[in-house]
Amino acid sequence: MKPGTVYFVGAGPGDPELITVKGRRLLDAADYVLFTGSLVPDVMFAGLRAVIEDSKGIDLDEMERRLVTHARAGERVVRAHTGDPSVYGAIHEQIVRLERAGVPWEVVPGVTSAFAAAAALGAELTIPELTQTVILTRVEGRTSMPPGEKLADLAGHGTLCLYLSATLTDKLARELIGAGMPETTPVAIVQYASMPQQRILRGTLATIAAQVREARMREQAMVLVGPALDPELRFRGGHESRLYASDFSHRFRKATPAEPHQDAPQDAPKEETP
Ligand code: SAH
Repeated sequence: MKPGTVYFVGAGPGDPELITVKGRRLLDAADYVLFTGSLVPDVMFAGLRAVIEDSKGIDLDEMERRLVTHARAGERVVRAHTGDPSVYGAIHEQIVRLERAGVPWEVVPGVTSAFAAAAALGAELTIPELTQTVILTRVEGRTSMPPGEKLADLAGHGTLCLYLSATLTDKLARELIGAGMPETTPVAIVQYASMPQQRILRGTLATIAAQVREARMREQAMVLVGPALDPELRFRGGHESRLYASDFSHRFRKATPAEPHQDAPQDAPKEETP
């Protein structure tokens, strides 16, 4: 860890064990940690030697002042973000300011909440022949969506992972149904994914808004929409990836029967090396 550098660390979705080994090491060695108190749980920081401050309630100028001051003093600085810093992390504007101040910086990735939610559901977001695309997005709220990225434009394309949208499920369902998605499209919501107070709702575009209202689910909830979220899928069989099929050849395994397939996936598992 280089003194004088600001490390943007993805702290993961909440479970203190879901931070990377590197992120943990940087936190342990840090002199100064600035974190988002409303989202990253305090338990992440238990026992640290660093001075720890909450970024809740301070504006970007003040954030810049603190990061730059501590870095220029030669301290080891961590700016901890929930999930992965690259997803709705607002790191862009912090990086611009660090660059301007000539302070070196680095980003350490984390487990984004969409993947923690998928884990909680035991769902694969890319089910063969059903969907092979994952979209990370949000419902338009106070932040307007750029052209081509409204929900209606994204409807029907793969699995939608909707951040910052739990309070907007009415609008979300209305817009997706309005864009032609069936009312029966499966929806799953995971609140506080990976944390002790985790809660899960499963429903459809037709039911989800009422379910969320009834459960009073408002904060830190991830909304996943699409056919891959159908809880019945696993009982139906089919939709198996070709990767492990016995007649499917790839770089690391020869097919057993004659006709091997040519289109070897690049992500073939290494443990299958002959
Ligand atoms: N950088 C973060 C996202 C920050 S935006 C990440 O990669 O996850 C904040 C939104 O993230 C929340 O509105 C919610 O939709 C989602 N979120 C964050 N933590 C969550 C958790 N533990 N469970 C479910 N959703 C979460």
